[in-house]
Amino acid sequence: MPLALLHERLLAVRSRVEAAAARAGRDAAAVRIVAVTKGHPLTTALDAVTAGLLDLGENRVPEALEKMDAWPQAAVRWHLVGHLQRNKAKHAVGRFALIHSLDSARLADAIEAEAGAIGVEQDVLVEVNVAGEAQKAGCAPAELAALVEHAAGLPHMSVRGLMAMAPLTADRREQRRVFAALRTLREDLVGQGFRLPELSMGMTNDFEAAVEEGATMVRLGTALFGERPQ
Ligand SMILES: *Cc1c(COP(=O)(O)O)cnc(C)c1O
Repeated sequence: MPLALLHERLLAVRSRVEAAAARAGRDAAAVRIVAVTKGHPLTTALDAVTAGLLDLGENRVPEALEKMDAWPQAAVRWHLVGHLQRNKAKHAVGRFALIHSLDSARLADAIEAEAGAIGVEQDVLVEVNVAGEAQKAGCAPAELAALVEHAAGLPHMSVRGLMAMAPLTADRREQRRVFAALRTLREDLVGQGFRLPELSMGMTNDFEAAVEEGATMVRLGTALFGERPQ
């Protein structure tokens, strides 16, 4: 894609993040943009880095590893934003700066086993299915505290916060309700003594609502790169 177009879109995204942060009395500098390059070629990832976006997100492990290996860049932080199968954990651990999709104790154990074997500490977020949607990944809110407690006790894992996806809707109040629920879940856990600074929430369709409700990371694909090629 033309770099000028990416710059233009990035400026527009940044000003929308700033406006949303201002509405909530927040500092926009506390909101990190994760540029989701899934479905786009390696050149798009390269363009993102040229534009100053050093946090890149992918939702599938093989596609991410292909990009990482074709183009190793120490400065880039890769984020796994999609579901992680237990049998893929060994390929993901140590390669992603942050895995956003921890959703079960068994997956935590698989990540821990690999992290211990290669001697790294893996940062993760716990994905929560806030709205209880049948087709969505993520742990149920009622199971969250037990999962966080389990994961926090693993020596090679660092739980950095929570992640959620809102239902696909244009209704701003519905988006905010889901993001506010995730924020509240985090506050409850912080009250129990867990240190969970990160809230990964908000995509192209709903990132302003997420920023208004306290997102520290927004995961943006389409807003930056346009529609994904089929
Ligand atoms: C694809 C994807 C995104 C980015 O989606 P856009 O709507 O293109 O911004 C964010 N988060 C997850 C988990 C994704 O799979």
